[in-house]
Amino acid sequence: MELNLAEVIQAQKDYFHTGATLSVKKRKQKLKELYQEIKNNLYALHEGLRLDLGKSETESYMCETGLTLSELSYMLKHIKRLAKRKKVSTPLAHMVSKSYRLPSPYGTVLIMNPWNYPVLLSLEPLIDAIAAGNTVILKLSEYSPHSNQAIKNIIEHVFPKEYVTVLFGGFQMNSELLKYQFDYIFFTGSKRVGKIVYEHAAHCLTPVTLELGGKSPCIVDETANIKLAAKRIVWGKFLNLGQTCVAPDYIFCSEKIHDELLKELIRQIQIQFGSHPLTNPSYGKIINEKHFHRLLQLLDSKKIVYGGATEEATLKIEPTILDRVEYTDAVMQEEIFGPILPILTYQSEAEMIQYIKEKDAPLALYIFSSNKNRIQKITTEVGFGGGCINDVVIHLATPYMPFGGFGASGIGSYHGKVGFETFSHYKSILKKSTRIDLPMRYQPYKKRNKALIKTFLH
Ligand code: NAD
Repeated sequence: MELNLAEVIQAQKDYFHTGATLSVKKRKQKLKELYQEIKNNLYALHEGLRLDLGKSETESYMCETGLTLSELSYMLKHIKRLAKRKKVSTPLAHMVSKSYRLPSPYGTVLIMNPWNYPVLLSLEPLIDAIAAGNTVILKLSEYSPHSNQAIKNIIEHVFPKEYVTVLFGGFQMNSELLKYQFDYIFFTGSKRVGKIVYEHAAHCLTPVTLELGGKSPCIVDETANIKLAAKRIVWGKFLNLGQTCVAPDYIFCSEKIHDELLKELIRQIQIQFGSHPLTNPSYGKIINEKHFHRLLQLLDSKKIVYGGATEEATLKIEPTILDRVEYTDAVMQEEIFGPILPILTYQSEAEMIQYIKEKDAPLALYIFSSNKNRIQKITTEVGFGGGCINDVVIHLATPYMPFGGFGASGIGSYHGKVGFETFSHYKSILKKSTRIDLPMRYQPYKKRNKALIKTFLH
């Protein structure tokens, strides 16, 4: 049956306008049902992730379904408080009145997500949007069909279509959808498509969140615990074969510890993935041929010091280290989004900071160091979305801190309380008493009132 987008969107708008999503009790009930349905369908979700990305069950739970359940648990625990009006102070000039901010849903939200964490990156914003009282059109990436089907089955079991509609499709579906007026757009994907979404949103004056990517640097200085740094970097870089928006894109290390770090990185790859990663069942695969071939172009054989083997039939690329990489190399011109780890070295802190500052603000920045002054300097002077000190990636795995980019890596953020706020408009409301009515604001203006106004407003 031909899908009529106009009808789908209108049905959601009509449903929203019935006020059906405003009851916090109902929202909570729906989130509870979603929690249960995800739990009942863990096998189907994990199987989808295995088929799409070769993810192991442990990784799927740790990085996708487990984090989704954790966001749901947070919302179930806090939704009542989050949805309450927030009392705020009132200036003396407005006596006798009360002021409050009333969280209100936007209406019909469009969520578009990428393929690299298809479960987490679709359900997490969905949870926040539903908690805030919106209806959702959820557009899943065309590259992860197996995970998509499992997600769709879950959603359709919990929500009627007019509350949440799941759509599949790529460029064409996005372009069609963007012709319509939504009340909020939440997009996760590349900078390139983010700009297109932003342009369309501007045309309709639709508020947006853009969760984009970028080249996230990983700084390792001479005061770092090198063994632990290597262990954590190898885990975070090769997780999901580097197809992680906050993966350390490249290492920027002090020349002084370069040799030791390289040795430890190689040792850690062998410990974590074995000597034949391509046959390791817990090591995933590149999403499709297009990305596989894009990554092959970045494998500069002159600079490979470890790994480099590839297998087209299974779309696998070994954890690969490129050493002595220069700013001008191809691998430094785009977000890698694959299991290729370039190492650059710096002679001076100033040179390293300058280089990062001159580039687009990254989504994440990591520093392995025990030098407090340096950590302070970099975290305050350099612009980036978020990050870790002495670790990688895990700053996004918490409902207690918002996650989002900065500058070219995105606009806005979500997760937990901030996720609820992202999908809410806060109406500022002042409630005035009818018992007292001060005369000084009314015309005709009088001289003695002018002085009185100045005592309130100065
Ligand atoms: P993408 O931007 O290429 O694709 C996103 C979606 O947009 C896809 O469904 C695609 O079909 C569609 N699309 C492609 N061209 C389009 C066009 N011209 N008009 C409208 N829609 C179009 O991103 P991707 O390859 O799915 O994901 C990889 C990117 O996403 C990386 O840059 C990564 O860093 C970023 N990412 C960011 C986060 C985050 O939370 N900040 C998370 C994951 C991925």
